[in-house]
Amino acid sequence: MKIGAPEEIYSGESRVAMTPDSALQLQKLGHECFIQSGAGIKAGFTDAAYTAAGVTVIEGAEALFDAVDFVVKVRPPEEAELSRLKAGQTLISFFYPAQSPEMLEKAKATGANVIAMDMVPRISRAQKMDALSSMANIAGYRAVIEAGNNFGRFFTGQVTAAGKVPPAKVLIVGAGVAGLAAIGASTSLGAITMAFDVRPEVAEQIESMGASFVYLDFEEAQTDGAATGGYAAPSSPEFREAQLKKFRELAPEVDIVITTALIPGRDAPVLWTKDMVEMMKRGSVIVDLAAERGGNCELTVKDERIVTENGVTILGYTDLPSRMATQSSTLYSTNIRHMLADLTPEKDGVINHNMEDDVIRGATVVHQGEITFPPPPPKVK
Ligand code: NAD
Repeated sequence: MKIGAPEEIYSGESRVAMTPDSALQLQKLGHECFIQSGAGIKAGFTDAAYTAAGVTVIEGAEALFDAVDFVVKVRPPEEAELSRLKAGQTLISFFYPAQSPEMLEKAKATGANVIAMDMVPRISRAQKMDALSSMANIAGYRAVIEAGNNFGRFFTGQVTAAGKVPPAKVLIVGAGVAGLAAIGASTSLGAITMAFDVRPEVAEQIESMGASFVYLDFEEAQTDGAATGGYAAPSSPEFREAQLKKFRELAPEVDIVITTALIPGRDAPVLWTKDMVEMMKRGSVIVDLAAERGGNCELTVKDERIVTENGVTILGYTDLPSRMATQSSTLYSTNIRHMLADLTPEKDGVINHNMEDDVIRGATVVHQGEITFPPPPPKVK
């Protein structure tokens, strides 16, 4: 099959869905690879590097869409991109079908198939295709780098001839994929790192990474996320009160807060309130990774960097993976390549869009002119 990646058109997006390395692997599966001229440049991959990897470089998005059977992309398609899709083609990209029912209808009208990378079931077998986790890992790491860039002090403590420097205190709220990556980056820079999650089972992971788990003074067990397949469920009002009380105690002493708390299918819970921001020291930094879904901090403005009257910087950036475009393109294109490997079981360039396969079925949101979202629950763990 012919597989091609166009340039991303979303403003400020620097990632690309195919790298020269991923193209070499796709060719081993029997596919031919195509790239729109310049599509990889912001991620550090030149047209010449693609050509050297056996990829055909095509001028312009229209010609690229016309040339291929499979279009691979990062961002959900925009209308201009959907209008270029034709019946029988397949698009693989992030799509967020639950949030964009209109785009799902428009995609269906094209007659093309759509595989949504955000819908890959989170089962062990599909981890190699789990692009949400790949990107969350990068976002968590980058959140710490952004915090450091906006913080006027070291992370680590030092005793120098010019004086003693205390270590920074970092609080990570939410210890899923992004939160754990942030913990790793923060502890490796030498900060005193604390983390909180409503799922008590993550305490061990937090502690094994050199951070301390923030325990609440709360009679009932913390919400057990197991009932929702490893994700969090909304907390009871009493639990939430206990959580906010603990955060109010911590607010005057922490230097950096990185929030990553999300509950599937809901707006982000507000956990870092205005009065907590007001209690923080001048020069403190908050990085809100939940900004896309409304933010965990009450004062976050999506995609903005704001500085409050009391000198606290709040970052609501939603493009953290794109800020590390080489790394994120490398991991994302590998996730895509694994998806295509499962779609090419005989490694002979022949696609078998097998709707009996849990992973392929779960990720397919439009198939042969029908909307196939939401999928049935996966049979395998
Ligand atoms: P997520 O992005 O949905 O949420 C981030 C974190 O926020 C979660 O840990 C959640 O418990 C936490 N949270 C929610 N409400 C909170 C609150 N009020 N206060 C504090 N924290 C709160 O989660 P995610 O990063 O996608 O990962 C969720 C789980 O899925 C993790 O256990 C992860 O290890 C697991 N996972 C499994 C697979 C797999 O098996 N293939 C892949 C990825 C993730």
